[in-house]
Amino acid sequence: GIGGQNPIRVQTMTNTNTADIEATYNQILRIYKAGADLVRVSVPGQADVEALKQIKQRLVSENILIPVIADIHFNPSLAQAIAPYVDKVRINPGNYVNRSKSAQAKKYSQEEEQQELQDIRKRIAPLLQLCKQHGTAIRIGINFASLSWRMVNKYGNTPLAMVQSAVEFIEICLAEDFQKLIISLKASDIHNTIYANRLFVEEMAKRDWHYPIHVGVTEAGLDLEGRVKSAIGIGSLLCDGIGDTVRVSLTEAPEKEIPVAKEIVNQINNFKVSAYSQNEWKHQPFVYKRRTTNLVNALIGGENPIPYLILSENEKVPEAWEQIFQKTEEISRIDISKSDNVFDIRRKVYENIESEKPVCLVFKVKADVQSQLIRFSLICGNLFTEGLIDGIVFECPENESELAEQMVKAMLQVTGVRRTGNEYISCPSCSRTQFDIEKAAREVKAATHKFKGFKIAVMGCVVNGPGEMQDADYGFVGAGNNKVILYRKGKPITKSISLQEAIQLLLNELVSSTDVNMNNC
Ligand code: SF4
Repeated sequence: GIGGQNPIRVQTMTNTNTADIEATYNQILRIYKAGADLVRVSVPGQADVEALKQIKQRLVSENILIPVIADIHFNPSLAQAIAPYVDKVRINPGNYVNRSKSAQAKKYSQEEEQQELQDIRKRIAPLLQLCKQHGTAIRIGINFASLSWRMVNKYGNTPLAMVQSAVEFIEICLAEDFQKLIISLKASDIHNTIYANRLFVEEMAKRDWHYPIHVGVTEAGLDLEGRVKSAIGIGSLLCDGIGDTVRVSLTEAPEKEIPVAKEIVNQINNFKVSAYSQNEWKHQPFVYKRRTTNLVNALIGGENPIPYLILSENEKVPEAWEQIFQKTEEISRIDISKSDNVFDIRRKVYENIESEKPVCLVFKVKADVQSQLIRFSLICGNLFTEGLIDGIVFECPENESELAEQMVKAMLQVTGVRRTGNEYISCPSCSRTQFDIEKAAREVKAATHKFKGFKIAVMGCVVNGPGEMQDADYGFVGAGNNKVILYRKGKPITKSISLQEAIQLLLNELVSSTDVNMNNC
């Protein structure tokens, strides 16, 4: 089961063409062997409905008892077609509302709002009845990038709009006497993900609701950055006691997500954490604001970009840092290397809130920096996202200082507290992807990494990609036949062209705008 006293469940999603039964079945098998508790499969068309029915049957007949979730986008009728045959259906409320151009600029009167809610209820009621009949659960998957215009017009593109979308859908489900719900509120941005989930838990507490929550950061990307981003986003929420199932969304083979997700969950289980309680917060947990601190030695605190020091064994501490370390009355150094109690660390940081002393975290690793990646991200991540940290010292073996620096830079970058490079987002791909997105994401990153301060997206399909990357400066969107379309600030600037042509065009753009952009960093 999910929720209650059950362990935190780990899931991922296939990225094969679902209608290719053999390929999808084999991928599910690999995912199952990697240790996933659930698997999600996208169902973009009727052929996929038929394929998924057969895949599920085959899994059951071979005693591979992994619950299967059907992922539905844009075509609610497919949810009804597949609901009797799977364990859970994931729907996006954004697909049940009026997303026409005319709704975009519209200000809804109370009557119109009521009318839209009634229309949504009419559209979703048959699915709810069917799921009730077959014992199928439903995940209401709120996505920051596909909120209804009505919500955006009322609450802005904000975590609050995500929460209100979830609340109104739950109310519709309850009105139809349907309770077997799991809720998720996801964004590609860590801050929006964390704030939306915290706000939602507050809202549930007011209503005495206790629905399980699925947590994840969408489009986390690749490699180290993708892992750090996921660990911070998911881990911060798990540290708050929020989250019953998790998915790490990497632009890599789905089975590679499982060890990362498991490590996050295992580390959290080993940490001493307590359930979410607002009494624990001394700082505003729903918006980002850097704590006001004094600037010490023109290096740490104040409005200075957060400095970091990577210190190899036997390396002499640079003089500027040595002077700071001696000012014990003016800065607070907190060694987080050994503690297994994240609340203890948080409290130590909170002790400084009134003092305006900059807080510098110290992390010492004797060997194998890589193995500390998740732990380090989990411990520090939420403190960065709350604007509580002013500096970081990372001590490590000499031959691992490069990796340590990459980790620290990734953490500063993904939490948005200091731009150390570009921010890359890329979707994990699914059956809609018609090109090698992992390869494309690596090529885009390799070609553009020398620039700084841009948000660059690589997305698998034109159906969802443009919406999901709407806040990116530039985006490559798969357009079929191994072609892509290049976007600037949410608008296409090319027809479908080869990836290499698109990369070259982007490089030209970046070169011409770099001076302006670097000044903003
Ligand atoms: S952007 Fe398109 S291809 Fe990528 S995961 Fe979303 S739906 Fe699938």
